Amino acid sequence: MARIVVLTGAGISAESGIRTFRAADGLWEDHRIEDVATPEGFARDPELVLRFYNERRAAAAAAEPNAAHRALARLTQAHQVTVVTQNVDDLHERGGSRGVIHMHGTLNGALCARCGHRWTAPRVMQVTDPCPACGAPASRPDIVWFGEMPYRMAEIWQALRAADLFVSIGTSGNVYPAAGFVADARHAGIATLELNLEPSAGSRLFDAARHGPATQIVPAWVAEMLAAA
Ligand code: NAD
Repeated sequence: MARIVVLTGAGISAESGIRTFRAADGLWEDHRIEDVATPEGFARDPELVLRFYNERRAAAAAAEPNAAHRALARLTQAHQVTVVTQNVDDLHERGGSRGVIHMHGTLNGALCARCGHRWTAPRVMQVTDPCPACGAPASRPDIVWFGEMPYRMAEIWQALRAADLFVSIGTSGNVYPAAGFVADARHAGIATLELNLEPSAGSRLFDAARHGPATQIVPAWVAEMLAAA
């Protein structure tokens, strides 16, 4: 039984019909990143930001997990697996994975910008929604924006240090600190593997890489890992 840390990004959900994040032109679903994924953008136009995430929440709810999400859940039959995702959708959970670490938060969570209370997000969030704890109309999605600290980093680093293998799936290697995990893993002497449609920004840092659509290369890799266990 190997201890495996799997990091996933937008690429694993692409074939479920959820668009990836366009780091190259700085746009996500035709919006500027600074407008929809920063605390400053939310302060400037909370209505736009809530509408943007309401749309993302609806799109995620309408999507189905694909063969790559489901294959990762099967990997736990023979290995100790920690799934760390940058994704804010819940397709890993719906694909059968448990204990997923959402380092960038989740569309299904709401957070009070005033007091920090967290609760389950309604399907449609509105700027006038009061916080259930303090009553302030300061509801925001529980999503980690640029300039904010990702969640559960100590746990992630601990899992990485204890792992035998680090696998990065469908992530461009542009967003830190996740982009730095491969260097952390190498530093700790752990084997590293990239599974991506094409070589990512940090591709050369991995011991091995396989390129192709996640729905093909992830199930194939999982089948090999289960056969070898
Ligand atoms: P990214 O969009 O920067 O990179 C996507 C990567 O996936 C690219 O390297 C691309 O080559 C690869 N890819 C595309 N289609 C693929 C496929 N079919 N199979 C395998 N790989 C494929 O995404 P990122 O690195 O995750 O960083 C983007 C940030 O945007 C994250 O912080 C995340 O929170 C957010 N985001 C999340 C979602 C989601 O929850 N599904 C969607 C878009 C953006």
